[in-house]
Amino acid sequence: MTIATETRTLIEATLDGDSELAKLTVAGSSPEMLAVHIAPGRPNRAIGGTTYHRRPPFRRETIIELVVRMQRLRWQRAAPLTPLAMPPVEADLQALHQKHKRATVGFECLPGWTDLLDAAFTWLDEIASDRQWAPDQIKEKYGTLRFYWHGDLPDLGDAIISAAEHLSGHVCEACGAPGSEQSANGWRSTTCPDHRRRRLS
Ligand SMILES: [Zn+2]
Repeated sequence: MTIATETRTLIEATLDGDSELAKLTVAGSSPEMLAVHIAPGRPNRAIGGTTYHRRPPFRRETIIELVVRMQRLRWQRAAPLTPLAMPPVEADLQALHQKHKRATVGFECLPGWTDLLDAAFTWLDEIASDRQWAPDQIKEKYGTLRFYWHGDLPDLGDAIISAAEHLSGHVCEACGAPGSEQSANGWRSTTCPDHRRRRLS
């Protein structure tokens, strides 16, 4: 598994059903060189196993950039190993409270979403560091991320948070590897094949 192949897997799952996916290009052999191209615009209403009421509340390029940011952080964190050999642990998740001044609420989820949350907070800091806003609750619910907030964020900030919630349905909550939403005994979770077998732990 390389960063390019893993990133392609993630994007194909996240945008599954979108008309522009056939023209996706992913290149680069390192976090710094990772480059993704897709036509900008609103994705189809039904993507990645989710049907949006009117249209997704984020643009195609928004979710692509969030994936690229997450993948850079994920592969840089694990270097020189691969992230599959060095998955994020609880201490990595908790370290986000020191790294991001807006990460003021507890993370009610497993550490597999560490790099996803890190990418979202980093991007939000870049576009809205001077805005008055704060998260209310960040948690897993029915298998995916819920990020509740209040205050003043630009439209892009709202889109980044919606994109993060969508992306979480394709990232294993336990280890951060590409995953999918599963349902067993009425219990929903997003897991990779390995954690599907072992259950979340
Ligand atoms: Zn996993």
